[in-house]
Amino acid sequence: MTDAAVPVTQSAVEQFTERYLRSLGCSIEHSDDYWVVSVPDTTDTEIPHGKHTLVRGEGAPDGDDDSTKRLHPESAFFQRLLREAAERSPTGKLSIESESDIETPKWIQRSDVEVQNAQFVPYYDRTAAVVLFRVGIETVSEYQKEFLRAVAVDSRSEEHLPRLAESFLELTSVESSEAPSGSAELTQTEARPLLDTARELVINEIQDRLDEIHREASRAADSEVEEYRQLQEHRITELQEEHSNLSAKINDLSEQINTGDEDSRVQALRERKELKSEYEELNETLNELRERRDGGFPERQREIRERHSLDVQVTPLTLTEVEYERGEVDFELTNGSRGQTVTLGYGSGIGVTETVRCASCDQELSEQDPVQKISNGLECQRCAKER
Ligand SMILES: [Zn+2]
Repeated sequence: MTDAAVPVTQSAVEQFTERYLRSLGCSIEHSDDYWVVSVPDTTDTEIPHGKHTLVRGEGAPDGDDDSTKRLHPESAFFQRLLREAAERSPTGKLSIESESDIETPKWIQRSDVEVQNAQFVPYYDRTAAVVLFRVGIETVSEYQKEFLRAVAVDSRSEEHLPRLAESFLELTSVESSEAPSGSAELTQTEARPLLDTARELVINEIQDRLDEIHREASRAADSEVEEYRQLQEHRITELQEEHSNLSAKINDLSEQINTGDEDSRVQALRERKELKSEYEELNETLNELRERRDGGFPERQREIRERHSLDVQVTPLTLTEVEYERGEVDFELTNGSRGQTVTLGYGSGIGVTETVRCASCDQELSEQDPVQKISNGLECQRCAKER
């Protein structure tokens, strides 16, 4: 899972709530334990206009009233906010400024090579759509997982921009002052294919996790089926014993009927009649049970499998149009007395967009194998060690 997925924890709840309320035009005053939210009369929301106190976390007074509400993952207020956001997917706009700190790639950060200077030259203004999804994975029986996931796609090329989604979450976190402002300029017609692409990306990204949960759920179902089968097997053995006991008793009684005196014969006949009907009944139950066993208890299996099947919901909550810039960065690198300038494709909020290979072995420079020598092109640590 990348950093762009946030389990629905208290901090994710707060980030989402703040982002959403601000996108509606509400203002928020923060205190340690609570927020005061003002909803202007002009705001189009189900939340009543006026001032509300949102008490943070679980340790809040019981029950919401008109002006005091609790804010935590399960609170009624938060769930209502999620529903409202999902129905209307509000849009906002945010710019990622190129003046912000230039991000040095890991393969330089992890090396002895120093960056003397970095200069970003923007060439194009680009726009991306960052969609925040609520992903809910649930089996009817026990498993339930909920998280928020941000996905960014370039609005023209539909290129997936994972790093931009992370930057978006960092920039719009509660601790940060940035918040989307203004409405996105994307029209609904333009936004729809981007939403579809983003949703596909989310589903692809969580596929491994879904498969894993699915396997777990099938295992749980298998063992429940097996447990049930063993229980029924045990029951069959018990019934069989009872069945042969009855049969022995009936034989004894038949003996008595043939050999006993008049009184005991009448008594034995009556008893045998009762036992025979019990025997018939038992026989029927046993046959029915065996038949179900031989068929693999289909109804019970279906019921168990249904209880363990997965329900996955991917709901878009907000769409933010993010303006960013693409261009190039000149990194002035030094290592001891050596110096070298490298020019690399770069995007604000994305970082370096191209991979760089070792001049000697042609392997991609990485966090694990960073740049080591810069005197003869860029050389990786492994090659530098071999010399
Ligand atoms: Zn190398």
